[in-house]
Amino acid sequence: MTTANRARRLAALRIDAQVPCPVCAEGVKGANLDRHLAKVHGGDGAVAAGTSGSGESYESVDVRVGSYLQLCSGRRRITVHARAAGPFRTTWTGWEQGPRRRSLDLTLDRAELVALQLALWELGHLAPAGGAGR
Ligand SMILES: [Zn+2]
Repeated sequence: MTTANRARRLAALRIDAQVPCPVCAEGVKGANLDRHLAKVHGGDGAVAAGTSGSGESYESVDVRVGSYLQLCSGRRRITVHARAAGPFRTTWTGWEQGPRRRSLDLTLDRAELVALQLALWELGHLAPAGGAGR
């Protein structure tokens, strides 16, 4: 499933709540996502996220702005950062607030962080807040 399709599926579950736009990561009311994609981005959002560039992954950076998402598997973890998270807090449950961090493994742009959130949702690691679950 593409990121745009995942976003549409989420929007259908959250007609009256905000969902992150898969292109610009702004919060958009679920019912308005299709119109937002067509009007603001001139298409269906299929060109959402680029692939990560080579060499930039797993850099440790001292960043004091933005939000991070920490993916844990047992004791192993990857900290993924974006300078702005969009409406993450109001969109999802299944996460916990973590402490401020200075060390980050990977920085994504806003649209890539949205793509990651939607993929985690599809895998069952995040659930839409206040709604019908998956
Ligand atoms: Zn947008």
